[in-house]
Amino acid sequence: MRITRVAAMATAAALSLTVAACGGDDNAGSGSSASGIIGKAQSSKKLVIGVKSDQPGLGLQTGSTYEGFDIEIGKIIAKGLGVDESGIEWKTTVSANREPFIQQGTVDLVIATYTINDERKQKVSFAGPYFVAGQDLLVKADNTTITGPESLDGKTVCSVTGSTPAKRIQTDFPKAKLQQFDAYTKCLQPLLNGQVDAMTTDDIILAGYAAQEQYAGKLKVVGKPFSTEPYGIGLKKDDVEGCKKINEILTAAAADGSYKAAWDKTLGKSGTPAPTLDTSKLTHCPA
Ligand code: GLU
Repeated sequence: MRITRVAAMATAAALSLTVAACGGDDNAGSGSSASGIIGKAQSSKKLVIGVKSDQPGLGLQTGSTYEGFDIEIGKIIAKGLGVDESGIEWKTTVSANREPFIQQGTVDLVIATYTINDERKQKVSFAGPYFVAGQDLLVKADNTTITGPESLDGKTVCSVTGSTPAKRIQTDFPKAKLQQFDAYTKCLQPLLNGQVDAMTTDDIILAGYAAQEQYAGKLKVVGKPFSTEPYGIGLKKDDVEGCKKINEILTAAAADGSYKAAWDKTLGKSGTPAPTLDTSKLTHCPA
């Protein structure tokens, strides 16, 4: 491992020397650390991180400020890459534009309740997972008929375009009528009005809505998760060194207490103890 990395660094150094000698752009070429997130962080001391803006506890924008667990994870990663909090530009993403934002370079990283899966791995790389959620249902507090995804036949279910929960309803529960918006908050009013019977996404996102003051006593999470949603940190597909570096930063954050502190400051406020970050599962970076 060490030998490989030293060799890779030597190759990267040689490459940038060659490029410099040719008077070219030292961001040219792909796969070398100089062209990836490590190089960008080192040279510019800036990072653009795509996050959600309407998911309480995870990624929530108030004015120009973003807060939540994903935001805290972003700060940890930036710090580990040598970028100050002041050098982070948060950019709102919705579920459907995460891969294109990474591919087009609109953002350097996506930390946005972003499930790692094989389909997405065709387009981007994932460090992590730093958290594991599960798909669940949110219904009105007095609803007794919807007890799990099997009871969705003929019912209208709201979710978000480009999300894994929406896709799972289409493939595994085709008798449910799926209504899709671009962001989860847009499902809330139709749910309260009775225009949709349920809303579906990850349990941790749904719990955040149910806990909001304005919905107190009005909504409930069914509480029977029916998928595994490992949250990753998305970055350019060819940035293997950057991906591995982020996993190293996560490993350090698990050991030094900063992962737990990120949880305690955000989702942990509800009283749920911080999960243990299983660093043996940080294995999704491309080989
Ligand atoms: N984790 C799921 C996904 O990445 C649902 C949450 C979301 O849409 O951000 O699709």
